[in-house]
Amino acid sequence: MKLVTFTDPDAPGRDKLGRINSEGHVEDLTPVAGDRTLLDVIDAWPQLGPALAAATALPVAAGARLRAPIPQPPRNLFAVGKNYHDHIEEFARSGYDAPDRAEKIPAVPIVFSKVPTAVTGPYDDIDPHPAVTTELDYEAELAVIIGRGGRGIPREQAMAHVWGYTIINDVTARDLQRDHQQWLLGKSLDTFAPMGPWAVTADEVGEPRNLIVSSAVNGEARQHAPLADLIFDIPELITTISAGITLHSGDIIATGTPAGVGIGFTPPRFLQPGDLVECSITGLGTLRNAVRQHDPARNPR
Ligand code: MG
Repeated sequence: MKLVTFTDPDAPGRDKLGRINSEGHVEDLTPVAGDRTLLDVIDAWPQLGPALAAATALPVAAGARLRAPIPQPPRNLFAVGKNYHDHIEEFARSGYDAPDRAEKIPAVPIVFSKVPTAVTGPYDDIDPHPAVTTELDYEAELAVIIGRGGRGIPREQAMAHVWGYTIINDVTARDLQRDHQQWLLGKSLDTFAPMGPWAVTADEVGEPRNLIVSSAVNGEARQHAPLADLIFDIPELITTISAGITLHSGDIIATGTPAGVGIGFTPPRFLQPGDLVECSITGLGTLRNAVRQHDPARNPR
């Protein structure tokens, strides 16, 4: 099932839960789900999931505007750095990594976080923050959405804790990432986590190793890699994070990005105002975000 959070033109301030039907249209799930958010639904999935899947004859939401599936995560997004071999090489070549760490394949996952207010919708603008950064970059990533929480989750049980998947563009200000050494600032500016367009249940995705992660800027292909190329796979990431941090239902883990980001080019090809960034994953849809300075009228927050 593909679930979405949307607003309709009649009540733009109110988030609703929806489902993408076989024609690609948004169906309004509020007749079944009431006021529940996607987070509520994920938390009660064993009870609510079957009812949502069985619901038929739902109204199609005309003029629906998709928001991020989880527009306001209750805590930081977990994210993983340097999790594809080719990306480690391009990051090292770029000179943006600390010299003593460059080109080394990490022995254990590099886990950092992005603040929840970075999240923005699948078709909303990415704010270039010209007063803060001049080195804006993109990173297409598969994001895992946790279903059943837990601590000390063993590797062999990890996939049973995955509720589903979505796409995140881990937008990065490379100068802030480099200069501040700790990555939180460079990864967390407002609008630096476009998410969506849908949250897809794990049963519909099947084996995630077969997924292809790709991106394009202004229609020019930039990234393209199978998820099988991950250095630390999804069970390893869940086991590592949950070893000492209790994972909650609805937690999000962005799994890392393959080669082809802007700093991978010589000279680097940073995003500029007016650019259109597209991040796609097989069966999960496409994020489509223009780089445009924030306008509260266009992208109400
Ligand atoms: Mg990343």
